[in-house]
Amino acid sequence: MTAVLDCPPTTAALLPTVGADTRVPLVDGATATYANLDVAASAPALVSVAAKVAEALPLYASVHRGAGYLSQVSTALYESARDTVAAFVGAREDDVCVLTRTTTDSLSLLAGCLPADGAVLVLDVEHHADLLPWQQRSRELCDVLQAAPTVAGTLDLLADALAARRYVLLAVTGASNVTGESLPLSRVADLAHDHGALLLVDGAQLVPHRRFSLAESGADWVAFSGHKLYAPFGTGALVGRRDWLDTGRPYLPGGGAVAQVDLDATTWVAAPHRHEGGSPNVLGAVALAAACDALSALAPGALEQHERDLRTRLVDGLVGIDGVRLLRIWSDSVDPTGVVSFTVDGADPGLVAAYLSAEHGIGVRDGRFCAHPLLARLGVGGGALRASVGVGTSSDDVDRLVTAITRFVALGP
Ligand code: PLP
Repeated sequence: MTAVLDCPPTTAALLPTVGADTRVPLVDGATATYANLDVAASAPALVSVAAKVAEALPLYASVHRGAGYLSQVSTALYESARDTVAAFVGAREDDVCVLTRTTTDSLSLLAGCLPADGAVLVLDVEHHADLLPWQQRSRELCDVLQAAPTVAGTLDLLADALAARRYVLLAVTGASNVTGESLPLSRVADLAHDHGALLLVDGAQLVPHRRFSLAESGADWVAFSGHKLYAPFGTGALVGRRDWLDTGRPYLPGGGAVAQVDLDATTWVAAPHRHEGGSPNVLGAVALAAACDALSALAPGALEQHERDLRTRLVDGLVGIDGVRLLRIWSDSVDPTGVVSFTVDGADPGLVAAYLSAEHGIGVRDGRFCAHPLLARLGVGGGALRASVGVGTSSDDVDRLVTAITRFVALGP
């Protein structure tokens, strides 16, 4: 094993709030440094994010609703955060950025804005958040295509499906929350557009780990969550084309979303405010923007390389263990993010995860990862384990996991 990898970010302001000082209890009464290998579920906030929130905390007041000085400051903070978030995902000049609570929110919001009778195409690899809103709107208007075992084959299947029926939207994951794998998004955008469909990217697992640009990819919308992007819970975004969002069903009807309310008629404002009824979460927006700023300030490619190195180390370590099987969707996918799912022959994933936590202080995810159709198709309908890396993960964390799984397997049935 090589020495512990440097753990970007390299400046103190960009360190995560959960790190080397976080100790957790073990079953034998001792404690261990927490090895957080569950970054894909929720990433710990960065120190710089916490500092920005602390700075804004004494200032916050009602957004868009008061003439007082603090209301003006809060409104300015909120709107400037929106601009930062939009820029972070390469929004085009006429794109709109709706601040939401989560990716789930963002996708449901877009589902409410689809043209009536417009059909949607998705793959069976999606997180439930990028499947259920389209199905709930109408099962007849939502086709779920089973991905082929290769990326090339999946692109062919998508082309055939797009040619066979008129879809208004193709919704694809930016990076799988089960395997970290991606489709080439620019090619998918071209395919969709060639057939008259628009492209939504579920960016929950992509945007925190790879530079993503709406303008460069050609995607029409991207949805993502703050809590996976090193900000606390309670923020997300839907960024992209304005047209459907300006006219679609207001997502959160209420104060701030309207121009005029009479008892028999309501005039709604345009996006983004149309979908942001209620008092805006200014501290959440500040936190999300601070996280975007922190990631943008990293040397280009530094975090990506760190995560690639950790993934390689993790995969190399796990494949060397008897009875460990790694999950893949596509045999020819390139550059997956740092998400690795696996099973241990004959072992219940929940039991393995509990062992890792109680005996080794390691946090991983177990279960079906809100992707039941995909796990069933991959032959692991009962669940699997998932380790994921990001800012603050060290090679020591990865090595501890590999050692712990090796010991678990050695314990025998
Ligand atoms: N999409 C993907 C790919 C995800 O990994 C997740 C969360 O795990 C979601 C959507 C939903 O995100 P949230 O729970 O923040 O709404």
